[in-house]
Amino acid sequence: MNHLFDQIRDRMPEPAKPFMDVFGRGVLSYGDMLADTARLANALVEAGVEPGDRVAARVAKSPEAILLYLGCVRAGAAFLPLNTGYTLSELGYFFGDAEPRLIVCDPEMAKDIRSVAPTTTVETLDAAGQGSLTRRAAQLSPDFADAARGPDDLAAILYTSGTTGRSKGAMLTHENLASNARTLVDYWRFTGEDVLIHALPVFHTHGLFVATNTILFAAASMIYLPRFDADQILAAMPRATSLMGVPTFYVRLLQQPGLTRETAAHMRLFVSGSAPLLADTHAAWRERTGHAILERYGMTETNMNTSNPYDGERVAGTVGFPLPDVALRVTDPETGAPLADGEIGMIEVKGPNVFAGYWRMPEKTRAEFRDDGFFITGDLGRIDDRGYVSIVGRGKDLVISGGFNVYPKEVESEIDQIDGVVESAVIGLPHPDFGEAVTAVVVRETGVDLEEADVCAPLAERLARYKQPKRVIFVDELPRNTMGKVQKNLLRDRLADLYAASAS
Ligand code: AMP
Repeated sequence: MNHLFDQIRDRMPEPAKPFMDVFGRGVLSYGDMLADTARLANALVEAGVEPGDRVAARVAKSPEAILLYLGCVRAGAAFLPLNTGYTLSELGYFFGDAEPRLIVCDPEMAKDIRSVAPTTTVETLDAAGQGSLTRRAAQLSPDFADAARGPDDLAAILYTSGTTGRSKGAMLTHENLASNARTLVDYWRFTGEDVLIHALPVFHTHGLFVATNTILFAAASMIYLPRFDADQILAAMPRATSLMGVPTFYVRLLQQPGLTRETAAHMRLFVSGSAPLLADTHAAWRERTGHAILERYGMTETNMNTSNPYDGERVAGTVGFPLPDVALRVTDPETGAPLADGEIGMIEVKGPNVFAGYWRMPEKTRAEFRDDGFFITGDLGRIDDRGYVSIVGRGKDLVISGGFNVYPKEVESEIDQIDGVVESAVIGLPHPDFGEAVTAVVVRETGVDLEEADVCAPLAERLARYKQPKRVIFVDELPRNTMGKVQKNLLRDRLADLYAASAS
C-alpha cells in the first residue's frame, strides 16, 4: 500500500474528468494525471531513485511540477520543492543538507546547479513542462506499481523560510498530508463539483498541499494559472467556485474595477492564509462581493491548524477555531504552562497534521516539542471567550522595550486605523536606553500628507507609553516575500542604526 496515493486513487472520479484546466494549454484529466505520474515515477526509478530517497525540484510552476510531486509519492521518494527565488549558494546548502538522489531544475539553471551538486543526477523541466525529465518519462509505461509506504513514511521535505538562521527541512509524512487534506475537504465542504482557481506558487505548502491535495481528495478540478494575475483570476471566476490566496491577492483584486458581485456570483469560497489578512481588506471584500473571506492559519511544519468556520461567523482579524483533529493551546513562552483564555502566549499544536521533525536536526526538533508532544509554533496568540484564535505575531518579532513586552500586532492595529494609513509594521530596534525601541514603519495612502506627529498623537490616547513608537518611518511599501509575509528582518537590518545615529 502507498498511504497517500492510495487515498487519492480511492477517491478518483471517472478518468475523463478534468483535474487541471491549464491556462494556455488545455485540460489535463484525472486519467492523464494517473498515466503521467506513473511515467514520471518510472523515470525516477530509471534515474536510480529508491524509496526513502529525496528528489529536489527547483522548477517554474507548471502542471508537471505537481505531477512530479505525485510521481515522487508513488515512487516512495520524498519530494523536496525549492523556492525559485533561492540563490545558488542557498541551493548548494539545501543539496548538501538533503542529499537528493535527483535534482530537477529549469534548463537554464542546469549548468549552475551541476556546479554546486557535481555528483548528483540532474534532469530538466521548464515552465512549459518540457525538458529531459518529461522526454524520458514519455518513453516509459503509463503503469506503475506504487512503492509501499506507510502513514509515517516521508512524502516531502519543505525547507522553512528561514528568516532567522539556517532554514530547516520540515519532514512531512504521508499521514500528515493525507489527514490535513481529509480534514480540509470536510471543513471547507469541497466536493466533486468544485473548481478551484490555483494561482499560488507550488514550492510552498499553501499551493502545493493545501490547494492541490484538497482538490485531489475531493475529486474536484482546478483552473491552474502560472502565477497571480488579477485579470486572469477575474476571468476565471464565472467558471470557478473557490479561490485560495495570500492576503496580497485580495488586496490586488480589490484594486480591479472588474471585481463585482456579478463576477463573484458563481464563487462559494474565498480562503486566505500564509500571512495576516487586514480587517479592512476583509470588510472591503465583503462589501464589494458579498463574500466573507475565510481566514485560516497554518505553517510548513504543521499544515493547517485553524480555520474560520464555513457556516458560522468568519471573524476578521482571527484565524478561527482549531481544526477538528488538531489540539491547540496557548502557553507561557518561558515555562510552557497553559494560560487562561484571553491571555497572549505561545501557540502550541498537536495532531496528525504536525510534522515528524527537522531533517537531520534532532536537537532542534527536540527543542521545539514539549514532552507531551505539542509543537511550539513560535507564533504568539490568544484564544477569545468564543474560542476564536488570533495571532499577534511571531515570537521573535516580540519587542522588549525597557523590560516591557510589546506585541507588534497590537500597535499595528491601532496605527492602521489612523486616517491616511494603508498599513504598518512595528519592529524593535536596538536602543541605548531601552534595549529595544518600538519603531513603526508606515505606508501612507498616496497623496496623503501624514507626518510622524499625526501617527503618534492618536496613539498617545490609546496605548500605554511603553507601547508607543519612538519613531515613525514612512516607506512606499513594506518588503514582502513571495507568500505575502512582511519581512521584518529586512526592516530591522535596514534601520538597525536609527537610534545609534540619533544618540551620537
Ligand atoms: P510558512 O511556514 O512559510 O507557511 O509560514 C508560517 C507562518 O505564517 C506561521 O507560523 C504564521 O506566523 C504565519 N501565518 C500563516 N497563516 C497566517 C494567518 N492567517 N495569519 C497570521 N499569520 C499567519
